[in-house]
Amino acid sequence: MTTRKRKTAAATTETTATTTRREATATAKSGDTSTPLRQCRKCGKRRRASSFYHNAALADGLTPWCRDCLCAYYTARRDARREASQ
Ligand SMILES: [Zn+2]
Repeated sequence: MTTRKRKTAAATTETTATTTRREATATAKSGDTSTPLRQCRKCGKRRRASSFYHNAALADGLTPWCRDCLCAYYTARRDARREASQ
């Protein structure tokens, strides 16, 4: 009779607490400081002023929402109107 003894490898839990990660946060890109970033009030992203629609009725001349947010808002509203009319 052959009795096999298997060594059950104990789960080695390695704690990687000593390893420090250095995450390079590229917040300010060099060479692109001429255009001030404007924060969208809808999505919160900071984008260039060119990413916002102009609106003379507003104080700063630009919409508080970026183009993507406004487009999404208008298309959603348009679809809602279509569904309501049908
Ligand atoms: Zn936005």
